[in-house]
Amino acid sequence: MNAHCDALIIGAGIIGAAVGFELAKAGYKTLNVDKRPAAGCGSTGNSCAVIRTHYSTWDGTAMAYESLFHWQDWQNYLGAPDERGYPRYINTGCVIIKSNHYDAAQGFRYFRELGIAYEEWDLLTLKAKLPLFDPHAFWPPRRPEDDRFWDTPTEKISGAIFVPSSGYVSDPQLATHNLQRAAEAQGGQFRFNCEVVKIRRAGGRVLGVTLQNGEQIDAPVVVNVAGPHSFVINRLAGVEADMRIKTRALRHEVHFVPAPEGFDYENNGYICSDGDIGCYSRPEVGNHILIGSEDPECDPRQWIDDPDDFNREVTLEQWTAQVYRFARRVPSLGIPQDPAGIVDLYDVSDDWIPIYDKSDLDGFYMAVGTSGNQFKNAPVVGYLMARLIHACQSGHDHDQEPVKIQCRYTGLTLNAGFYSRRRAINPESSFSVLG
Ligand SMILES: Cc1cc2nc3c(=O)[nH]c(=O)nc-3n(C[C@H](O)[C@H](O)[C@H](O)COP(=O)(O)OP(=O)(O)OC[C@H]3O[C@@H](n4cnc5c(N)ncnc54)[C@H](O)[C@@H]3O)c2cc1C
Repeated sequence: MNAHCDALIIGAGIIGAAVGFELAKAGYKTLNVDKRPAAGCGSTGNSCAVIRTHYSTWDGTAMAYESLFHWQDWQNYLGAPDERGYPRYINTGCVIIKSNHYDAAQGFRYFRELGIAYEEWDLLTLKAKLPLFDPHAFWPPRRPEDDRFWDTPTEKISGAIFVPSSGYVSDPQLATHNLQRAAEAQGGQFRFNCEVVKIRRAGGRVLGVTLQNGEQIDAPVVVNVAGPHSFVINRLAGVEADMRIKTRALRHEVHFVPAPEGFDYENNGYICSDGDIGCYSRPEVGNHILIGSEDPECDPRQWIDDPDDFNREVTLEQWTAQVYRFARRVPSLGIPQDPAGIVDLYDVSDDWIPIYDKSDLDGFYMAVGTSGNQFKNAPVVGYLMARLIHACQSGHDHDQEPVKIQCRYTGLTLNAGFYSRRRAINPESSFSVLG
């Protein structure tokens, strides 16, 4: 006899664990299987775990806003203890640099529509709050090997937008473990060191999966939450042909540098989104600053064919590009001789907006294409997927009449059709990590 569950979730990253938790809460006998040894050991473990609300679409902004309240109310939301404790949600606030050369105000109309509090900072306010920051404009973002990188800037940026309710989660892997424990408290199960190598199907319906050791697990519901391996799983299931939007793995580096001497960045720094230099940054423990790329045109995109085989070492080229760009904004930054940071993969969709959807294989669902920006949204994605799966399993035609969810904290209504695999590419997207 094969093992059996109501819903088998492939992956136990932050999104997979949240889907497991919400389905278990809805009464499903769930099983999360992951080929890694513990929850959150995939790309989630290297996430910067920034919690911010500026996205380029109404739906993206609304989901991020709803998610914020889950992080502020984390232990209540989980409703179950974790012997390892809980990460901290550190509310630094987010500074979004405004430039004359790109439309930083694009997403802010959604702040007004959704009632998300923000402040407009002129250059004097920015200087008072972040005296380290040089107010000059460096647009367009360039790499140091470009001679124009070193040009003396003549213009200034026009200020910044400050969003007080933003920050980061101190330990993304621990947050995932919290969700595992919360799912287990609802009867959900997790198995690690188990790789799914086959999706079994018959008559247009999913039957279950086969693991690498040959074991078969039967389930009427199988959910692909395999992160950067999402396209591998979709191909195993044979569902890609029906998808207008697909996913690919993209290599990304994040670098750590010590904050300039004499400034307590760990306690007084902010999350910063700086399109003028094409970098985002946030405070990190040990008075460090963590610097990532916002995917400007000058940074080559490193698509990865095999998500199990890519260079996990920080490269001098990308380190120099990101750290030197940030050093133009913060001239007092000391640049360490030894590059330090992490390397991992984003699971990027064709328009950098996720796919949260069913497939043309009955019982097979996907929460994929999280494009470097969905850690924050995991609690809402788990809820949305549980509602969508329950509706479809009850006979609802989600492709014809998309499922809508009522948000628990904000009361907003989110339309799951926005994340359809069959949508046209969304031209409103930033086509970058900003979503
Ligand atoms: C460097 C970096 C920085 C980021 N920064 C932020 C940020 O600041 N804010 C934000 O909101 N988002 C951020 N993100 C994005 C965010 O971390 C991801 O969207 C999120 O973690 C994805 O979670 P997941 O559960 O879908 O994937 P993962 O955490 O990758 O989990 C997928 C799991 O599936 C398992 N798996 C794969 N194939 C199989 C198989 N065949 N059988 C069994 N198991 C399998 C893997 O082992 C893995 O554990 C960042 C991502 C990266 C890489």
